Amino acid sequence: MAIPRDARITLDPEEIPKRWYNLAADLPEIKPPLNPVTKEPAKPQDFEAIFCKPIIQQEASTERYIDIPEEVRDNLVALNRPSPLQRAYRLERYLKTPAKIYFKREDTSPLGSHKGNTALAQAYYNAESGIHTLTTETGAGQWGTALAMVSNLFDIDTTVFMVKGSYNQKPFRKTLMHMYGAEVYASPSEYTEFGKKILKEHPDTTGSLGIAISEACELAMKDEGTCYALGSVLNHVMLHQTVIGEEAMLQMQKAEITPDYMIACVGGGSNFAGFTFPMMHEKIKGRSETEIIAVEPKAAPSLTEGEFRYDYGDTAGVTPLLMMYTLGSEFIPKSIHAGGLRYHGMSPLVSAAYDQNLLTAVAYDQTETFEAGVTFAKTEGIVAAPESCHAIKAAIDKALECKATGEEKTIVFCLSGHGFLDLYGYDQYLEGTMQSSSIDN
Ligand SMILES: *Cc1c(COP(=O)(O)O)cnc(C)c1O
Repeated sequence: MAIPRDARITLDPEEIPKRWYNLAADLPEIKPPLNPVTKEPAKPQDFEAIFCKPIIQQEASTERYIDIPEEVRDNLVALNRPSPLQRAYRLERYLKTPAKIYFKREDTSPLGSHKGNTALAQAYYNAESGIHTLTTETGAGQWGTALAMVSNLFDIDTTVFMVKGSYNQKPFRKTLMHMYGAEVYASPSEYTEFGKKILKEHPDTTGSLGIAISEACELAMKDEGTCYALGSVLNHVMLHQTVIGEEAMLQMQKAEITPDYMIACVGGGSNFAGFTFPMMHEKIKGRSETEIIAVEPKAAPSLTEGEFRYDYGDTAGVTPLLMMYTLGSEFIPKSIHAGGLRYHGMSPLVSAAYDQNLLTAVAYDQTETFEAGVTFAKTEGIVAAPESCHAIKAAIDKALECKATGEEKTIVFCLSGHGFLDLYGYDQYLEGTMQSSSIDN
């Protein structure tokens, strides 16, 4: 049999998108962030202590398209863009489904996930603004890794506060960040006032993203040449990730694929937004009937069980208040292997789109997502990140529905990253020692 033309749909480097798509242009009535002290709509100046001007402008922009700087496009090639859209024939055969399953490959980035797409843009704008150091937090380590590497391309130093629990559990992520030249501190650390305060009160704490964010922001506020970089949640991050979806739209057009479902996992919402916002634009214009599905962990089900209201982005309550689906900024999700999905809130843009019924959401327990990940590895040979396994699980469920009804639907999901540094989690699953991760267990 000849290799079918939709087996692996690739694009040439010059087909990397030339502009990002901004969903804020097409969503009416988005509520602005609020200053955490005055509770008034935040002003651009409120962000100047931690972000550079071009980033602040993009955060508030309602322009539909924003040009991608040449230097960012050039460097996207180093992250293996454009990434392939691939058909999962072997998975289809194994499931005995009449459905067609495709996946967009963010796992092919040398950084292991989609996070490099925004890291590159953020490093570029900060370098342009004369910033010499970026600080950030990282949970599982994918974001810290991405920022650490791309900062080198623009001669920027990186300081990463890594949640202490992960720092001790995932030593190889720390090695990677060190290889890329970053300074890495286990958070809470002795390096900041806030870290010292927490250590005094709770010497044995394993830390949290909220604490790490506060430490990273403290450094950025203290020094003019230092800014803070966030890997998800905010509008400018969603914007930078739309290269994923724009490539996918072009690939689907070339291969004449009309998806019935587009599926991605959600933590803060960035790979989901990047992958689906260009299609959401088509839906808003009445040109697409694709059902868009966000998949979250039962340990942090902000869309399926949270409330749509203003809330803080961190635990200490120092960030602006964002209008979003949230479980409450004091909510501490259970420890799960999909560390990138352990966040109490959801991107304000994804939240607004959910509120306007542009997407549906589903939540899974981590054991069923690892089962899907093992099936995917056996059939396609790819070890998916635990986060991405959530999207795989939802795709498999839709394919099995098609098997029951005999419908030949088309399913396209985003494979947000690879899981080579998550084999400990797979091992627990295979050994049968993995814990259920649902909130009420
Ligand atoms: C960080 C991460 C996620 C979750 O973050 P989003 O901003 O929701 O995309 C998902 N998958 C991988 C591989 C990640 O590294």
